[in-house]
Amino acid sequence: MRTFLPALCTAVLAATAQDVHPERLRADVAFLAAEPLAGRRALEPGSDVAAHFIAAEFRKAGLQPGAGDSFFQPFELIEYRMDSEATRLVVHRGSERRVLAHGRDFGGSFPRHCSLRAPVVFAGYGIVAPEYDYDDYAGLDVRGKIVLAFEYEPRAHDATSPFNGTGNTVHASPRRKLLVAQERGAVALLLIPAPNRKRPFRPGRGGRVQALAESEIRIPMFTLTPEAAGALIAHTGRRLADLQQELDRSLKPLRLPLEAEVEIRAAPAGGRPGLTSKLARHHEGALPDMRSQTVIQFAHYDHQGVRDGKTLPGADDNASGVAGLLELARMFAAAPRPRRSLFLLAFGAEEAGLLGSYYYVARPLRPLAGTRAVINLDMIGRDERPSQQTDGLVEIAPDTSNELNLVGVHASPDLAALIRRENALVGLRISDKWDRDGVLNVLWRCDHFPFLLRGVPAVWFFNGFTPDYHTPGDTPEKINYAKMAKIVRLAYRVARALADGEP
Ligand SMILES: [Zn+2]
Repeated sequence: MRTFLPALCTAVLAATAQDVHPERLRADVAFLAAEPLAGRRALEPGSDVAAHFIAAEFRKAGLQPGAGDSFFQPFELIEYRMDSEATRLVVHRGSERRVLAHGRDFGGSFPRHCSLRAPVVFAGYGIVAPEYDYDDYAGLDVRGKIVLAFEYEPRAHDATSPFNGTGNTVHASPRRKLLVAQERGAVALLLIPAPNRKRPFRPGRGGRVQALAESEIRIPMFTLTPEAAGALIAHTGRRLADLQQELDRSLKPLRLPLEAEVEIRAAPAGGRPGLTSKLARHHEGALPDMRSQTVIQFAHYDHQGVRDGKTLPGADDNASGVAGLLELARMFAAAPRPRRSLFLLAFGAEEAGLLGSYYYVARPLRPLAGTRAVINLDMIGRDERPSQQTDGLVEIAPDTSNELNLVGVHASPDLAALIRRENALVGLRISDKWDRDGVLNVLWRCDHFPFLLRGVPAVWFFNGFTPDYHTPGDTPEKINYAKMAKIVRLAYRVARALADGEP
C-alpha cells in the first residue's frame, strides 16, 4: 500500500539534498557480499578489497579524507588460539590444590602469556555506578587480587529495576566490569554466570580469536562454568543463587570469605600479527566556532569469512550498513555544509570484538568530548523474523517490513526524541524492544558500544535478527531495499539535525 507520507518526505528532501537511491544501495551490497570477497574476514584479502572499495567511493563522492591526508587509519591485530591444555585455573586453599577448570571449560581468551597466583575476592556484580548509588567495591581493596563477580546487573529481569528495567546498562557488560577491576588494581577478573540467566552458559569454542595489538586491557578475564564457580564458594556453605538473591534484595555490597588463592595460566598459541584499517572521511563544519564539534556515522565492513567451506556473505551484516554509509557520503557531498563537522567511518574487525571501534575511541580523530553523537548502521536491510536467537526470549512483531529498532538510546533520551521527531517525515515504525533486552546483550554487541562506554551519546540503527544471521543464507536478494532506503533517509535527517541544531 502506498501512503502520502513517503512521497511528501521525498519532496521535502529533494529541496535540500540528494535523496537516497535504492539502486545504488543494491549495487553496493551486491559488490561487498559477492563470492570473491570471501566473507570479508579481518586480516584476509576480502576485507582489504572491501576497504579499498569504500575508500574509492569516498573519494568519488568528493569529501575530504579524515585521517590526515589519507582515508585509511591502519591498526595492528594479533590472531591466535588459546592452548586449551596449557590454559587452566587452579585453586589453592591451605594445602589443598585443585584444578578448577581447563582451557575449554571456561569462556574467554587473552592474547598474552600469563601465569599468576593471587588471593581471590568476591565483589558482588563487580559494578561501580554512582548514578544508581551502587558500589560493589565500597571498602574493598582488590589491589594485587583476583576479583570474582557475577555477570550482568542486580534485578536483571525486573522491569522496575533502577538499572534500565529489564534492559542492560553499560554496567552489565563484561568490558566495563573488567575496566573497573583493572582500575582498582586487580590482576584478573573471573565472572560467574548469573544463576538467573535465561540462556544456558556455554564455554568458548576454542577457535581463532583476534585482538588489538595495543589495547587498554592489561589483565585477563575469564567466565567460569556455574559448576566451577559453585565449587569455588562451596566451603562457605552458600549457593550462588542465594548470593545473587541477597545482592538483588539489598543492592548493597556483600562480602564472602573465600580464603583461597587462584592460579591462572593463560597460553595463547599460534600468534599472527597483521594490519587492518578503519576508514574515515569528513566534512568540515561550516561555522568556525562549531567546527570542533563532531557528529559521526559509521558502519563496519568486515564479516566472518568462510565457515565449513561456505562463504558467509554478510549482505545484511554488514554490507547493508556500508552501502548506507556510502549513500550518506554522496548525499552529504551534494548538500550544503553542516555547521558542525561530520565524520563518516567504516570500521574493520567488528566481528572480532568491536576492535576497530575500540581502537577509534582510544585514538579518536576528533576529541570524544566534542563528539555530539554517533549513529551506527549495522544490519539495516532485512525484515526481522523470529530465529533461534530470539525464540522464547524476545517477541518479534508479525510484520516488521517497516520497523526499525533503536539500540542504546535509553541512555540518551534527547537523542531518542530527536530521532522520533525526524522520523515523522520518514514514517518508519520505531521499536525500542532491544533496549529492554537483558538476555541477548545486543547493547554491547556492536560498534556503538565503545562510544557508550566513554559517555558519548550513541544509537544503533538495527533491523534485528533473522534465521540467516551469521549463516551462508545472509544474501543480497533477501534485503528489503525500500525499507533500507527509509532507514538511510532517517540517518541523514538525524545527522543533519545534530550537525546543524542548537547546542
Ligand atoms: Zn555486524
